Amino acid sequence: MRPDAPAPTLRLEIDEDALAANWRALDALSGSAAAGAAVKANCYGLGVGTCVPVLRRAGCRHFFVAHWSEVADVTAHVPPEEIAVLHGPVTRAEADYARTVGVVPVINSPDQARHWIEAGGGRCHVMVDTGINRLGVAPRDLGDPAIRALDIDVLMSHLACADEDSAMNLRQLEAFRAVIDQVPHRRASLANSAGIALGTDYAFDLTRPGLALYGGVPSDMLARHVRPVAHVRAALIQCRDIEPGESVGYNAQFTARTPMRTGTVSLGYADGFLRARGPGNAFFSEGRRLPILGKVSMDMVVVDLCDAPDLSAGDWVEVPFDLVDAAQQSSLSQYELLTSLGLRLKA
Ligand SMILES: *Cc1c(COP(=O)(O)O)cnc(C)c1O
Repeated sequence: MRPDAPAPTLRLEIDEDALAANWRALDALSGSAAAGAAVKANCYGLGVGTCVPVLRRAGCRHFFVAHWSEVADVTAHVPPEEIAVLHGPVTRAEADYARTVGVVPVINSPDQARHWIEAGGGRCHVMVDTGINRLGVAPRDLGDPAIRALDIDVLMSHLACADEDSAMNLRQLEAFRAVIDQVPHRRASLANSAGIALGTDYAFDLTRPGLALYGGVPSDMLARHVRPVAHVRAALIQCRDIEPGESVGYNAQFTARTPMRTGTVSLGYADGFLRARGPGNAFFSEGRRLPILGKVSMDMVVVDLCDAPDLSAGDWVEVPFDLVDAAQQSSLSQYELLTSLGLRLKA
C-alpha cells in the first residue's frame, strides 16, 4: 500500500461566505436583471469544485465557461441547461456534444449556427459583436438564414472598455440596442463585472460577472461591494542566520548589511507568485511585515524575519493577495494574478 502524501506546505483558502456575498451584491447591483457567473478557467483559478456549488446555493442559475473541455467539471455541480459555452461549436463534433450533454452553445457565427442546426438545434444563445472584434456574429451577418433559424434564448454582446470611462461603452450600448430590435430572442445580456458598475442601463435581463465574484475590483465603484475571496498561505521550510556581506538567492540580488535572520517560504513562481511580485513586497505573520529578500525562485521565496524572530520551520505565513495592490505593484492584471495560481495550490 502506498502511503498518503504528507500535508501540503502551501494552501489556497476560499472564503465561501465572501464569494456568496459577492454574487448577491452583483445580483442586487444588476437591478431587475439576474446575475450569472463566469466560471471559465476553473473559476479564474479558484476551483470549480469549491466555487460553483457556493454560487449555485447563493442563487446563481447561469454559468459560463469558455471551452468545451470545461463543461464536464461544471456539470458535476449544476444542471447542464444552466451552463453556456462561450466559444461555441467551431466543429460539428462540438455541436453534437452540446446536444448530447444538454449544455447551451453560444453561437458566434453563421458557420456555428449551421453546425448547431445540423446537430439538431434547439435552445441556444447568440453572441453579437458590437466592437470588441474578438468573437461573435457581426451585425451585418444577423440576417443570415442560419442565424434566423436559431431558437435564441439569450442574445448577448461583450464590452471592450467597461473598466474605463470610455466613449466606447455608450457606442457599444447603442449598437447592442439596435441589434436587440432586429433579432428575436427571449433575454438580453451585455455586462461583465465592470459593466455592472456602469449602471442598470447596461444590465438588460442577465449580467455575466466573473472577476468581481472572485474578489477582483475592476472599477472603483465596485470596491465597497466586493470582498476578497482568495487567501494564500505558505509554510516556512527553513530559517537561517546570515552575516553582513552574505547574499540571498539567484544572482545575489540582496546582500545583508547587518547580521540578520531569514526564512525560506515554500512558494515560488511555479505557484503563481511571479517574480514581478518580489521587489518591495512582503509576506505577513500576525500583522508583522516579512520583507522579501532577493529574487523569487521557482519553489521558494526568502523573507526577512527580523521583526518575527519567533518563527521557525513549519510555521505558516500569509502571502499578500489583495488583487488591487498586487496588480499595481506587479503591473499584472487582477485576472492574470488569479488565473496564474499554480497547481500545487489546488490541494
Ligand atoms: C469572461 C467573460 C465575462 C466575465 O468578465 P469579467 O470581466 O471577469 O467580469 C463575461 N462575458 C464574457 C463573454 C466573458 O468572456
